[in-house]
Amino acid sequence: MTKKIGIIGSGFSSLAASCYLAKMGYEVEVFEKNETVGGRARQYKESGFTFDIGPTWYWMPDVFERFFSDFNVKPSDFYTLEKLNPAYTVYFDKEETITIEDSLEKIYNTFEAIEKGSGTYLKKFIEKAEDNYNVAIKDLVYKPGVSPLELVNAKTIARLGQFFGSISSEVRKTFKNPKLISILEFPVLFLGAKPSDTPSFYSFMNFADFGLGTFHPKGGMYTVIEGITALAKSLGVKINTNSNVEEILTEGTKATGIKINGKHVRKDIVVSGADYHHTETLLDIKHRQYSERYWDKKTFAPSSLLFYVGFDKKIKNVAHHTLFFDVDFDQHAYAIYDDPHWPEAPLFYASFPSITDASCAPEDKEAAIFLIPLAPGIEDTPELRTEYFNKIITRFEHITNQEVQDSIIVKKSFCVNDFIADYNSYKGNAYGMANTLLQTAFLRPKIKSKKVDHLYFTGQLTVPGPGVPPSLISGKLCAELVYKYN
Ligand SMILES: Cc1cc2nc3c(=O)[nH]c(=O)nc-3n(C[C@H](O)[C@H](O)[C@H](O)COP(=O)(O)OP(=O)(O)OC[C@H]3O[C@@H](n4cnc5c(N)ncnc54)[C@H](O)[C@@H]3O)c2cc1C
Repeated sequence: MTKKIGIIGSGFSSLAASCYLAKMGYEVEVFEKNETVGGRARQYKESGFTFDIGPTWYWMPDVFERFFSDFNVKPSDFYTLEKLNPAYTVYFDKEETITIEDSLEKIYNTFEAIEKGSGTYLKKFIEKAEDNYNVAIKDLVYKPGVSPLELVNAKTIARLGQFFGSISSEVRKTFKNPKLISILEFPVLFLGAKPSDTPSFYSFMNFADFGLGTFHPKGGMYTVIEGITALAKSLGVKINTNSNVEEILTEGTKATGIKINGKHVRKDIVVSGADYHHTETLLDIKHRQYSERYWDKKTFAPSSLLFYVGFDKKIKNVAHHTLFFDVDFDQHAYAIYDDPHWPEAPLFYASFPSITDASCAPEDKEAAIFLIPLAPGIEDTPELRTEYFNKIITRFEHITNQEVQDSIIVKKSFCVNDFIADYNSYKGNAYGMANTLLQTAFLRPKIKSKKVDHLYFTGQLTVPGPGVPPSLISGKLCAELVYKYN
C-alpha cells in the first residue's frame, strides 16, 4: 500500500522534499499555516508594487539546475533568469563606492585599481575558492550529516587547515585595503556567522559571488517558489494552506499523523520543514531530542528589520543590490553576536528590483527593500522600527544625494515579532542556525529523529544550513533518508 506522508510547512525545503518524495512514489500532502506557500520566501504586493518578503539574492544557479534536472526539467521551464550587471554596489561613504560587475576579469581589474597587486592575489584566492566550491557544493553538502566519516576523504584531508583558520584571517593575510576586505567577507554573512567565526574553507561563497554571479528571476524570487509548487503539483503533491499543525501525533515512539485545526490527520510518516525548535514543541516533551538549553547555546543567524517601500519616482545612484557599509562593521557585528542590542549605527542593505524588472513596480516608480541585520530575540516595538527607519533613510538620502522621504507611497515593516508570528521562528531568526565549525554537517540537528520513528526534519536549521540553495538540498537529503528507512 502507498505510504502517506504529511509535510509541515511550504518553504523551499518542504516543497523540495515534497517533489522528491512524490517522485519516489509516496502519497504526499503539504500543510502550511499561512495563507500562501513559500515560507520565508513569500511575496508581498501592494498598489502595483511587488516585493520579495525574504530572499532577494539568487546565487549558485547550478544548485537550482541540479534540483530541477532531478525531475527532467529546467529552471527556464518555470522562470526567466537575468544575470545582474552590476551584481551589486557597495557604498563606503558618500563619494566612495565599489561596484562588483558580472565577470571575474572585470572584478580583478576593479581590485587592482584599488590596491596594487590585489588583482593577481584575487585570481589565486578565487581559484582556491572554486576548488572549495567543487568539493563543498558539488559533493559535501549532499551528505546527510549522519556521520563524521562523510566528511573524510582525500580532498577534505588536504584542506584540513582551512577548517580551523577563519575566512577573516585568510582574507587579511592577503588583502590590506579595508574596503576590499569587507567585500571579500560579505558573502559568508549569508551563512549566518561573523567572518571571524567562519572557517576559511567557506571561501567557496566568494566563488559563488564573483565566479558564478548574481541573478534575478523575472518577477522576483517568489517565481522560483511558484515554479517548485507547480512541479510538486504535477508530481501529485496536495498542498493545503491555512493549515496550522498544532501537534505531531504519536503512538508509543512512532509518529502517526498530525493535528490540524483540531482535526487528526493520520499519516505513515511526518516530515517537518518548519523551524526545528518549533517542530519539537509539537511533540510531548519526552519525545524531544534537544533541550531549551541546547538551542539557547547555539549560534543563530541574525534576525532582521525589513522595510518594503514603494517610491513615487525612480531612485538615483543605486544598483539593483546596494550595500551600505559606511559605518563600522565590528560595532554592528558585536551588537548581533556578542552583546545583543540595537546597533548604534547599523549597516544596511537595499534592493531595488524594479531597476532590472519593470514588473516589480508601476511605471516611473521604484520598489525598494531595506534590510538591517539584528540579533535574534531582540526587543521589537513599533517605536524602534520607526526610529531605525528614520536613521537609515536619512543616511540613504545623504549618501545617495537625493531626497526620497516625500516620495514614499507604500511602506510596510517586518521584524523579530513577525518572524515569530508568521513562521514560528526560534527567537525570530531570519536565516536559521549559523554555519560555524561546530554547527556544520553531522554537528547540526539531525534530519531523522533519534527519538520518534517515522519523523524527519528538513530546512535551514538542519543539514546543510541557511540559504535557498541549501534548503533545496536539505529537501533532497531528507527525502533520501525517508526512502532509505521506509
Ligand atoms: C529576510 C531574509 C532574506 C534572505 N535572503 C536570502 C537571499 O538573498 N538568498 C538566499 O539564498 N537565502 C536568503 N534567505 C534565507 C532563505 O530565505 C531561507 O534559508 C529559506 O527560505 C528557508 O527555507 P525553509 O524551508 O528552511 O524555511 P521556511 O521558509 O521558514 O519554511 C517553513 C515553513 O513552515 C511553516 N510553518 C511553521 N510552523 C508551522 C506549523 N505549526 N504548521 C504549519 N506550517 C508551519 C512556516 O509558515 C513556513 O512556511 C533570506 C531569509 C530571510 C528571512
